[in-house]
Parts: sequence; structure tokens; C-alpha cells
Amino acid sequence: MTIPRFWREFEHRYRLIGTKCPSCGRVYFPPRDVCPYCHRESVGKMQKYELKNTGKIYSFTVVYQDIPDFKELKPYIMAIVEMDDGPKITGQIVDASPEEIKIGMPVKAVFRRIREESPSGIIEYGYKFVPI
Ligand code: ZN
Repeated sequence: MTIPRFWREFEHRYRLIGTKCPSCGRVYFPPRDVCPYCHRESVGKMQKYELKNTGKIYSFTVVYQDIPDFKELKPYIMAIVEMDDGPKITGQIVDASPEEIKIGMPVKAVFRRIREESPSGIIEYGYKFVPI
């Protein structure tokens, strides 16, 4: 039985669930069905893998522009985080000011409110990063 798509996405949104290639050990997030390095050897063999929530800032930028639905966040910090398990993930850095952020700074993923959709009031959650 396959897991319904909704639940797969739900799980990926609340935990950092990726896949690991059994041939070369590379970890992917978001999950991949095939390892781009091992190709055929990895087909059907990719393993579910929960990433550690820690990494370090690989690159970042500070955004001052208004973005619909995200106005209250301005200015905000977007970073590429190199996770300790290998993948690079783009995400927002919170609980820090732009002046405090440095390349190489250790961070961890936390699950926070992303936005609230009006008028339905549906609240979306996802991962963000905080300095550690
Ligand atoms: Zn591989």
C-alpha cells in the first residue's frame, strides 16, 4: 500500500525527511527516487532518511522588499544552509538580526508558522533556521 500523497507531504513539512543512497551514502532533501551519481544502481533502493536538524550557513541574503503575505517579516534573512548530513537547504533565518549573521554560523532547523491564509485562517507551518 502506498502512503497517500498528503501524508507524505505532511511528514516532510514537519520533519526533515529525505532519502539516502545505499551505494554512495549521499543524502538528499527533498527526497529523490534516484541518486544522480549512482543512477541505475540506486533505482528502487533509495532509503528514507531523517536528517539531523543542524547545519551551517553556506550563503545568505537580506530581503528588504515587500512580498505579498510576508510583509510583517521585512527585512528578513534567506540563507542556504549546508546540513550536517550533506544537503543544502534554502530557508529563512529567524531570531537573529541581519548584522549577526555570518557565513559558517551554526544553525538548526525549527518548525514555525510560515503564514496564515485569510480568510480561511489556515496556518501553514514549515522549517526555518535559528542560530545555535
Ligand atoms: Zn549514490
